[in-house]
Amino acid sequence: MREAVEQLLLPAECVLCRALLSFRDSARPACDVCPHRWRPVRPPWCARCGQPEPLFGPCRLCAEWPAAFGAARSAVWLDAGARDAVHALKYGGLSRIATDLAAAMVGLHVPARDAALLVPVPLARARVRERGYNQSERLARALGRRWRRPVVDLLVRTRDTVPQTALTPEARLANVAGAFELRTGDCGLRIEGGKFKSAIRNPKSAIGRPLILVDDVFTTGATLAEAARALDRAGARTVSAVTFGRAVVPDFT
Ligand SMILES: [Zn+2]
Ligand SMILES: [Zn+2]
Repeated sequence: MREAVEQLLLPAECVLCRALLSFRDSARPACDVCPHRWRPVRPPWCARCGQPEPLFGPCRLCAEWPAAFGAARSAVWLDAGARDAVHALKYGGLSRIATDLAAAMVGLHVPARDAALLVPVPLARARVRERGYNQSERLARALGRRWRRPVVDLLVRTRDTVPQTALTPEARLANVAGAFELRTGDCGLRIEGGKFKSAIRNPKSAIGRPLILVDDVFTTGATLAEAARALDRAGARTVSAVTFGRAVVPDFT
């Protein structure tokens, strides 16, 4: 009720471009136009990691990935507009914008998508406390509703890592090495849309299913590869990953 009154008094604006929202859209964080400004990632790409193909030789980005990690795809390039959207999801306290980000991810294809469980990349506990939520979990739930796939909190972060942003690819690998492991207790499958009858409470019973890691951004893939490694170690055979954004990889060579 109070929210409704506030909306009448304060015209709502898009958190990304500040355009005024129509009354009908006033409960939404972003306008209809902003997602059209995001630049989709398109082929040709490396069949495995989804990165534009190198001109010469095999792809180096995914060469060291664990065997089970077969494919990673991202919806849009992380340039100005898309970066603001991720920023709003992570730092703006706007978990509702996950719906808009997930909408951009709906068309992503990875193996066994229609039989898979979605696995959010876990956030360090301290970060969840300060943010109030894990943005990857919000994204996974929004995408799970669109794909009608269940979300399982299969992984835990075993230690905190420093933000990856300023690190070289090699330093990123060292930073996240061993940062994830399989959850031992209840992995908290929430039944979405009443479609998934068999409750997967035991992480060990989920590990045999195709798994799709969900994260907000793919930069060098180091974090996703490490999360996949934890699933691979636990016996997973088909692991993929989807992200909303893909950073244009800086040239460290
Ligand atoms: Zn906008
Ligand atoms: Zn590759």
